[in-house]
Amino acid sequence: MKKYQVHGECGIRNAELARGPFRIPNAQFRIRASHLVGGVNSPVRAFRQVGALPVHAVRARGAFLWDADGHRFLDCIMGWGPLLLGHNPPAVVHAVRKALRRGELFGLTHAAEEELARLIADAIPSIEQVRLTVSGTEACLTAIRLAQAVTGRRAVLMFEGGYHGHAESLLDVIRVTYNDVEEFEAAVRRHGRRVAAVIVEPVAANMGVVLPHPAFLPSLRRRTQETGSLLIFDEVVTGFRVGPAGAQGRFGVRPDLTVLGKIIGGGLPIGAIGSTRRLLQRLAPEGDVYHGGTFAGHPLSVAAGVAALRQLREVAPYDALERLGDRLASGLINAGHAAGIPLQVNRCGSMLTVFFTGRPVRCAADGRRADRTRFAAWVRALRDAGVLVPPSPSEAMFLATAHTAAHVDRLVTATHRALRGRPRLRRAAAMAAKGR
Ligand SMILES: *Cc1c(COP(=O)(O)O)cnc(C)c1O
Repeated sequence: MKKYQVHGECGIRNAELARGPFRIPNAQFRIRASHLVGGVNSPVRAFRQVGALPVHAVRARGAFLWDADGHRFLDCIMGWGPLLLGHNPPAVVHAVRKALRRGELFGLTHAAEEELARLIADAIPSIEQVRLTVSGTEACLTAIRLAQAVTGRRAVLMFEGGYHGHAESLLDVIRVTYNDVEEFEAAVRRHGRRVAAVIVEPVAANMGVVLPHPAFLPSLRRRTQETGSLLIFDEVVTGFRVGPAGAQGRFGVRPDLTVLGKIIGGGLPIGAIGSTRRLLQRLAPEGDVYHGGTFAGHPLSVAAGVAALRQLREVAPYDALERLGDRLASGLINAGHAAGIPLQVNRCGSMLTVFFTGRPVRCAADGRRADRTRFAAWVRALRDAGVLVPPSPSEAMFLATAHTAAHVDRLVTATHRALRGRPRLRRAAAMAAKGR
């Protein structure tokens, strides 16, 4: 791709970028010299899984992102999920500016928090009340502590490859294969009475996208009811992503507790727990489970979240996103066919993952059997072609309302080229196939 193009969309010229403080030519040098561990603050940003270097972002708008070397990328990482409306949607930017003029932090309750909680409760029938947190990790941990208090039990049942923040090492965990109803039911027979909560991504997004088998979520609902455990849906990714009422609305299964995050913060840091009044009454100050935070319900995050959720309610983008997701998935599948390279596209609405394997991917182990060398080569080829997708097959690619059919087609065309045109990629694939 051409370096230092003039970027009309964001109004910044390469000459300006080149003069900016971020124009350090050598990415490798940047990492070595960095005062950040590994040059990043979240491991996946290092791009190590695909043998590439981090992208140093300087600015973004709509469907595009610019790096420190002046490259423009079509962004399909989209902040790893929060940016359903794309980068810097005007309504959100305006709301944050307005909120900032009123005060950056009150340390007191404020009106917009009530409004965000109401928008969430109106959209998701299982939620009557909400507690806001600063991150999804914090919300997951608090939901689990709440379940432990309500049930008087310690253990937590979760699914291999599921992600509920980085605090799970603190917990007594029973781990079961995602989508394996028999294994789950056996685990419940063995451990059910000591399980405080079953926590699940109702559509998995952190082993790559994996859809729930039709019998899976109903089985979780039925067995937790029988054994007196709470069912927690971690909808940090799926909430307001796979439909207006999240995965629980899409699949018609109602959890006891819902964890939210990402989209509800409109691009700023947030998390939330939602449930019935009765259950949430166990949280302080009403109850005995302490949760609080200096930044909980931060005015800027809340303002951004309210603006985002209002806009989603007004424009109802989900049908259009479904069509866009379908267009992308079909395009990618066709590209695989055309190149004679086996691949699976797992998709739910506007999030999807490509697995380079001929077999369906229904759990984390299936995903691990896919061809990682081929995946890495594909990600690098797309990046060279100016398209950013997550550099790990355990992550989801996200479409936003800022994406158009033309954007999606560009990703597909780049994939056709990547899969057919690059001899190195094909040779690596052939070697990997022989090795198996
Ligand atoms: C991102 C994510 C979290 C953690 O949220 P943070 O805001 O990053 O702490 C928890 N659960 C799921 C399913 C997630 O995708």
